[in-house]
Amino acid sequence: MRKKIVAGNWKMNCLLEEGQKLTSEIVNMIKDEPIKDVQVILNPPFVHLHGVKKLIAGVDNIYLGAQNCSDQNSGAYTGETSAAMLTSFGAEFVIIGHSERRAMFNESNELLTEKTKQALSNNLTPIFCCGEPLEIREAGTHEAYVTKQLTESLFGFSEEEVKKLVIAYEPIWAIGTGKTASSDQAQEMHSAIRQHLSSKYGKTVAERISILYGGSCKPDNAKEIFSKADVDGGLIGGASLKSRDFVDIAKSF
Ligand code: PEP
Repeated sequence: MRKKIVAGNWKMNCLLEEGQKLTSEIVNMIKDEPIKDVQVILNPPFVHLHGVKKLIAGVDNIYLGAQNCSDQNSGAYTGETSAAMLTSFGAEFVIIGHSERRAMFNESNELLTEKTKQALSNNLTPIFCCGEPLEIREAGTHEAYVTKQLTESLFGFSEEEVKKLVIAYEPIWAIGTGKTASSDQAQEMHSAIRQHLSSKYGKTVAERISILYGGSCKPDNAKEIFSKADVDGGLIGGASLKSRDFVDIAKSF
């Protein structure tokens, strides 16, 4: 059985008190309405990691993640945060290769391999993002585009390493736009991703990797999207900043 996961990506949102309030609300809702068999992951900005960790301590099924990590171990890299630091703050997951980082910070497939290495060697589960821009979708070459991202970043890893990954398929045209991929479009791509992983690592490995959908996922569309065979949950941006919406999405399986 693959893990079902709902991960919230806060992006660069929430002042101190806002982040604490959001986390406390989510924690209280999950205590009152336990969500079985779903891993709920909060990925706040780095400065919130310590505070969020304290607030989620002891609550079943809630985990801490970060939104990025350095490709380097440690040293003179001003402004960077290493994977080892994230682990020491209690993070268990890290988002790698979000399309905003690829686009705004020029993160290449090669750099993302290095970040994934750092994550894996520091016991963090990478939530590795892939996804195509609108013009690629319109040209009909989205499957080739996304599988190339995965090949270039991930296919140097061993079977043991790849098994530890979570993949997030996030069509860029659906992120923060209110325009969701249809459940059929999501399923088609998730299935293509799984087949691609299978072609390199075999069916057993591919079948155990959770593949999340991301892109304007909301309480009113999550159930339909999560009902698809190869969709194992969601990476949630905007709706993860609203406690009720986020928890409702996590209850949508
Ligand atoms: C994201 O940025 O990962 C995301 C899916 O954002 P949104 O849910 O706001 O589209």
